[in-house]
Amino acid sequence: MKPHDFPDYIQPHLIPEPSGNLIYRCLGCNAEFGIEKLLYICPHCGKVLLLHDPDFDRLKKIPGPTWRQIFDYRRMLNIPALKGIYRYHEFIGPVMPLDAVIYLGEGHTPVVESNRRLQELAGCRFYFKNDGQNPSASFKDRGMASALSYIQYLIRQGHVSDVLAICASTGDTSAAAALYASYLIDHVTSAVLLPQGKVTPQQLAQPLGSGASVFEIPGVFDDCMKIVEALSENYNVALLNSKNAWRILGQESYSYEIAQDFEYDMANKTVVVPIGNAGNITAVMSGFLKFYDTGIIDVLPKIIGVQSEHANPVYKYYLEPDAEKRRFTPVHVRPSVAQAAMIGNPVSMPRVIYLVDEYNKKAGRQQVFVSEVTEQEIMDCQLTANRNGHVACTHGGECLAGLIAARKNGLVFEGETAVLDSTAHALKFSGFQDMYFSDRFPPEYEVTPDPALVNSPQLVRPADLKAVPEAGKPLEGDDLSRFVHRTSAEIAAILHLEKV
Ligand SMILES: *Cc1c(COP(=O)(O)O)cnc(C)c1O
Ligand SMILES: [Zn+2]
Repeated sequence: MKPHDFPDYIQPHLIPEPSGNLIYRCLGCNAEFGIEKLLYICPHCGKVLLLHDPDFDRLKKIPGPTWRQIFDYRRMLNIPALKGIYRYHEFIGPVMPLDAVIYLGEGHTPVVESNRRLQELAGCRFYFKNDGQNPSASFKDRGMASALSYIQYLIRQGHVSDVLAICASTGDTSAAAALYASYLIDHVTSAVLLPQGKVTPQQLAQPLGSGASVFEIPGVFDDCMKIVEALSENYNVALLNSKNAWRILGQESYSYEIAQDFEYDMANKTVVVPIGNAGNITAVMSGFLKFYDTGIIDVLPKIIGVQSEHANPVYKYYLEPDAEKRRFTPVHVRPSVAQAAMIGNPVSMPRVIYLVDEYNKKAGRQQVFVSEVTEQEIMDCQLTANRNGHVACTHGGECLAGLIAARKNGLVFEGETAVLDSTAHALKFSGFQDMYFSDRFPPEYEVTPDPALVNSPQLVRPADLKAVPEAGKPLEGDDLSRFVHRTSAEIAAILHLEKV
């Protein structure tokens, strides 16, 4: 629909103008800094930052129900800059002119309800939000759309030129960073650091295909992160890890999308996300808080973060019920099929601690929980989900395992509806499925295949056939008829088919 076809009262709000005034705010010392410079940690105390809108209260002048209509009407527009995360412009980056926005198809991923059989297994109604259907096949694209739109804005303003963007990654951040940077090929180049052998071949192929400089580093993600931090402190580079607060801001769209897809009714809803570097759960909490503060949603949904017992620092932190006594201790990670979340020292931990507190306070009760699952449960749940019509990655399986656990221990009730984040596409992690199906998991993973879930191709080549087709050497005449007849008969026998 064209803008002039919309109702008069919505017209002034339909196409957002740059407004407001974002600043970086330090979570350690509360210092504030302007956004004309790229900043990742507080120059005073070294803690992480969040982007803050000092004029946020102006958004409360528009009533919640009007905001809902604004977003719903914007859904009908065919303006690319408003098709992705900037549909929620006033909340995602109010200072951003629409012509600086980069939209590659991210955000607004489908929410797919599970069939009855899976819901019985889980013990409640639930949906997968298929973040693998983002352009680089993971949720990281929302944050990159935000970070690279901001860089494009800085370039246009003349604040920076010839940017070298870098990140450390468990695979998907680098895929997303390299993709979005390559779109700005005239001004931005990218370099990504990956833990050697700890990303899947598909994830390695992605930044290579986008033309990034790709560096493999011995160790795990936490080691790569140290090197990237050293590079960003000592050289003129743009850091694209979730330390970069623009990433978090963009990823808040995840919450807004869920709210919009459920008609802004968050009563009895539970949002389940895996936790690695903790950028995702930070953004999810922050997003719901903003919609709650402006009356766009009336209730804060329950949030459950899930960690594997092989990479569980956040889970361990919240095991201590007394907030005064909690001490954060990084863990040494062990191999995990939820490989993109295999992080022992999450960069966003201070943000999590701050926001969990805010969230629970505003909700008037505990509404954020962290649970732990086994590697075995993650694999079994992923494969079970996908045998029931989903395209969940291992982290999606981790969410389902987390939901089942939450139902069992009474965290989630029967009448609730859960939304599970399948953070990437199943295809990125098909190597773990291969290991499961061929029983080749190294012992450290602690995964034993359930025969009922194993599947493998069967070669059909009847022994009595003299000739079979080959590429460039097709069969003809009797040979072809015999081949078709014998091969189809063999398949029919295996499948126990009855003759018509
Ligand atoms: C990055 C990533 C995670 C972990 O998200 P954090 O924001 O680091 O907590 C989970 N799943 C996938 C597929 C990822 O790429
Ligand atoms: Zn500070």
